[in-house]
Amino acid sequence: MKSSVSIVRCQTYDEGKVLDALRRSIDLLGGIHSFIKRGDRVLLKPNLLYGRSPEKAVTTHPSIVRGMVQMVQEAGGIPSIGDSPSIGSLIKTAEKAGIKAVADKMGCPLVEFDKPVLPPKRGGKIFKQLEIDQTVLDADVVINLPKFKTHGLTLLTLGVKNLFGCIPGSRKMLWHLKAGEDRKVFAQILMDIYEIIQPSLTILDGITGMEGNGPNSGRPIPLGLILASGDALSLDQIVCDLLGISRKSLITNRVAFERGTIKDEIDVLGEKVRGAKISDFQFPTLSQPDWNIPRFLRKALRNALASKPVIEEERCNACNRCEESCPPKALNRKEKGLVFDYGKCIRCFCCLEACPEGAISIKSGWALKLLDRRHQRVGN
Ligand code: SF4
Ligand code: SF4
Repeated sequence: MKSSVSIVRCQTYDEGKVLDALRRSIDLLGGIHSFIKRGDRVLLKPNLLYGRSPEKAVTTHPSIVRGMVQMVQEAGGIPSIGDSPSIGSLIKTAEKAGIKAVADKMGCPLVEFDKPVLPPKRGGKIFKQLEIDQTVLDADVVINLPKFKTHGLTLLTLGVKNLFGCIPGSRKMLWHLKAGEDRKVFAQILMDIYEIIQPSLTILDGITGMEGNGPNSGRPIPLGLILASGDALSLDQIVCDLLGISRKSLITNRVAFERGTIKDEIDVLGEKVRGAKISDFQFPTLSQPDWNIPRFLRKALRNALASKPVIEEERCNACNRCEESCPPKALNRKEKGLVFDYGKCIRCFCCLEACPEGAISIKSGWALKLLDRRHQRVGN
């Protein structure tokens, strides 16, 4: 089976220029009418992880959301914008991210994902009880609007990972707990969600991306790119090509290869991969080595291999959001400050995602550092 991914350049978040770039990227895939029919209920799912201003590159930029709302309305669709932020309400998060102003101006409702239901199609390979939000299942068309960012658990957060937000609020914690420290189990959950939702269209906001300590505290980096595809998995693979890393470096891609759900052939339209390559991109420190180590050995070498969250006390404002977001309650405020119980910690890095001050970072275990150096010399 074949799929297509379009790559279009756009260096600015000027609303008119972004709209032009969105039109070009979707026209290359056959035009908006190939995805939306008049009267369709169209759910736009941006990355609204956390309430930060658009310049921080934590959330999908409001110009992208605005452009897509306009295109959906022009095509006769009925748009809404929905997500389930990691901390705080959708309205407050969208307000800070500049998306509420867009929604109000365009007459487009904001919908908080807070109605977990079991989907009628329960194809989950690992867990059969994966609850998705009712709003997502009710939509005729889902348009996925991820941000191009790094992620300490999954390396990058792109098209497939963005759909994790379709699991309502506290249920996300539960799935982190179930996946435990195993990145591959977490990737299996992400792939299950992707296979249930199957968004019709994915548009990646790569005008400004995030490198380093993502998904919340990394550095914004101008990339000048918008990618679009009817197949989020193909889009994620093309991003790996742009970054010059193996497609299987992204653990969700690897799981998809194993499941045989990956498309055999991907047509790249618009810019060529060769001409749009991204150099000197800083990847995050990963929570675990990215190669196969037998489970028994992994357990024995747990602390030496696994990375762990650490705190920079001088940046901490004592808001306690990290504590609230920790699924196994492995983080507690004591007299001397915040203390991690690494025996309980499942290395999900929800605390890092939740911290508004970038006070939590990932520290590699000593064996992981050694193996990483060796791995870098050998290459991907
Ligand atoms: S301390 Fe942080 S990384 Fe560890 S389990 Fe809690 S939220 Fe996850
Ligand atoms: S580490 Fe971050 S999230 Fe935790 S209390 Fe400090 S500022 Fe708040």
